[in-house]
Amino acid sequence: MSDAVSYSVRDGIAVIALNNPPVNGLGSVLRPGIMDGIRKAGADPAVKALVIIGSAKAFSGGADIREFNTPKMNVPPSLPEINEAQDQCVKPMIAAIGGFALGGGLELALGCHYRVALSKSQLGLPEVKLGLLPGSGGTQRLPRVIGAAQGIQMMTTGNPVAAEKALQLGLVDEIVQGDLLEGAIAFAKKQANPRRIRDLTVNVEGDPKAFFEKARAEVARASRGFPAPLEIVACVEAAATRPFDEGRQFERERFAFLVEGKESKALRHMFFAERQVAKIPDVPEDTPTREITRAAVIGAGTMGGGIAMNFANAGIPVLMMDVTQEAVDRGFKKIKDNYASTVSKGRLKQEEMDKRISLIRTTTTLEEAKDADIVIEAVFERMDVKQDMFRKLDAIMKPGAILATNTSTLDVNAIAEITKRPQDVIGTHFFSPANVMRLLEVVRGAKTAKDVLATTMKLGKTLKKVPVVSGVCDGFIGNRMVEKYGQQSLFLIDEGCSPAQVDAAAYRWGMAMGPLAMGDMAGLDISWEIRKRRYVERPNFVYSKIADRLCEQGRYGQKTGKGWYKYNLPDRKPIPDPEVDALIGKYRAENKITTRSISDDEIVERLIYALVNEAAYILEEGIALRASDIDMVYLAGYGFPHYRGGPMFYADTVGLKNVLNSILRFQAGYQGSVWKPAPLLVKLADEGRKFNG
Ligand code: NAD
Repeated sequence: MSDAVSYSVRDGIAVIALNNPPVNGLGSVLRPGIMDGIRKAGADPAVKALVIIGSAKAFSGGADIREFNTPKMNVPPSLPEINEAQDQCVKPMIAAIGGFALGGGLELALGCHYRVALSKSQLGLPEVKLGLLPGSGGTQRLPRVIGAAQGIQMMTTGNPVAAEKALQLGLVDEIVQGDLLEGAIAFAKKQANPRRIRDLTVNVEGDPKAFFEKARAEVARASRGFPAPLEIVACVEAAATRPFDEGRQFERERFAFLVEGKESKALRHMFFAERQVAKIPDVPEDTPTREITRAAVIGAGTMGGGIAMNFANAGIPVLMMDVTQEAVDRGFKKIKDNYASTVSKGRLKQEEMDKRISLIRTTTTLEEAKDADIVIEAVFERMDVKQDMFRKLDAIMKPGAILATNTSTLDVNAIAEITKRPQDVIGTHFFSPANVMRLLEVVRGAKTAKDVLATTMKLGKTLKKVPVVSGVCDGFIGNRMVEKYGQQSLFLIDEGCSPAQVDAAAYRWGMAMGPLAMGDMAGLDISWEIRKRRYVERPNFVYSKIADRLCEQGRYGQKTGKGWYKYNLPDRKPIPDPEVDALIGKYRAENKITTRSISDDEIVERLIYALVNEAAYILEEGIALRASDIDMVYLAGYGFPHYRGGPMFYADTVGLKNVLNSILRFQAGYQGSVWKPAPLLVKLADEGRKFNG
């Protein structure tokens, strides 16, 4: 028996205890021990029943990710072999679930005949989030326990259920109060017979044919071309309509199909990219960090309010400052309304809302921020306003405080240099709505101290963000790229597309929304302001003026009820507007643009390769540390479809030579001069290499 699994017998009950911290991953050290335990218990006439138990924190988190892509993955027995031994066991077998049972962990528990859990436990099959399906009988056993509809729901969303819910579903047979092992042993003593899950039938509501047709239609709508959820439905159908062994065989085949698919590869890339993103080559992981127990946010506008909520959500007291009492009150009211709406949706308890609100204090006196460990400035996007603010902060903040700016485009170094402590200055670029969006670009200035960077990255995690390091440049990683994407979306309209056509092509490809609808949501006046600045700063800047025309008509997007679309507010559904078509028509005529019909494929290529090409410059300049960081920016902040793995990963799957060839073709087209292939893209394409790896 391995050290990671202990075996003992108490009152005729065999106890197989798993001990492979941190999550009891079902690695090569656990699997043989579990198998030995099952065999030993089966052979011992004194043993009446078995209990498999993990730690209080984790029954098991499933496969051991530390062994991915190593020979250890193939050390026998496999989980399916253990499941078979569980099925063959003629003594009742009970899973005692503390903490979580996820993925292979829940499949191990489903191999048991009964399950008991602590009330705080979570049970789930999240494989779909990696583009896969539960490959060790999960799709066959779970529906036999909780029915087809609930099984499909749990496996296609991948979201875990809490123990109480699992009890209602029948996934858990008893919730243990007090000591889990004692409870499980007591439960085991009451079970006279084994109950193999494979012998149960799947409960399907109504006529199976009609049920699965409906399920397929619903899941297809929600999953938009992403294959794993539909494969899960097919496996559940097999569970309901075929003998167990045939269903298992079908599951095995569909799993093998998905593992090789580009969607799953993209999602697995994302999984590892998210773990990689915290690593900064010249800042060791053990770099000491500064303590953050109090925060201050300057500016109570759109961003300031959202940022303050992040601190309150994490239990960190925060002061929110603005110039007038009216601005402070407006900002604070918005925060309260925001929380109240979450409470009304049942996603937050009233006491929790009150607790969070009590952590937010407001003021109109900047000096009150002086004792904060970090101050985040979110005032107007103007260099003079920001520099003035940092001069003041430099004078009042205690030594060692971190001075952060939420600027989206301005030079963080120029802001830092106005202070006597540029080493303490950093950019924290949150995304709107700041209390919702997971992305946080952490902008490292030329003089930012390593411990300031390490502290801010750690804080990002505490605030439940995905912090990505960016160097200083206009727009940082995400917005610098999105500008090229927006530029192409306008050229496509110049050339003959309608806004709805461009958006529909991007949406069908997988973007959360198309570029024009996104502009309407963010406010067209914001990008107009940026363009106006560019027209002055960079006279050679090439941009379609069509968006300016809209803004000149007061069409700022959703906030004015009109933008690229019209809106029947408060309904935010975009409605194509003949007035916009007329404006576009007039613009094309004035500029003597010959229109043509453009395919959806070309629309998508031009939008996505515009991102990719700019990203290649960003990587080459060292603004981003690695290609996968750029992918994380787009996955966490820009609604990029997860199953495409981010712009860089997607370009790798298309092949960089193909991407380059398309770009060279675009050079000969409308406004082709904006397409300047990045030297890094050319080099990698020539060498047959990839951005990632
Ligand atoms: P906003 O106009 O909604 O809020 C700015 C607030 O700052 C206002 O309430 C204003 O009264 C206050 N303010 C101005 N000068 C001040 C001063 N001297 N002292 C104290 N308060 C002052 O703007 P916003 O959208 O919240 O943007 C704030 C910053 O965040 C900008 O730098 C912007 O570029 C950046 N940002 C915005 C977004 C976005 O989508 N809105 C996203 C990322 C970053």
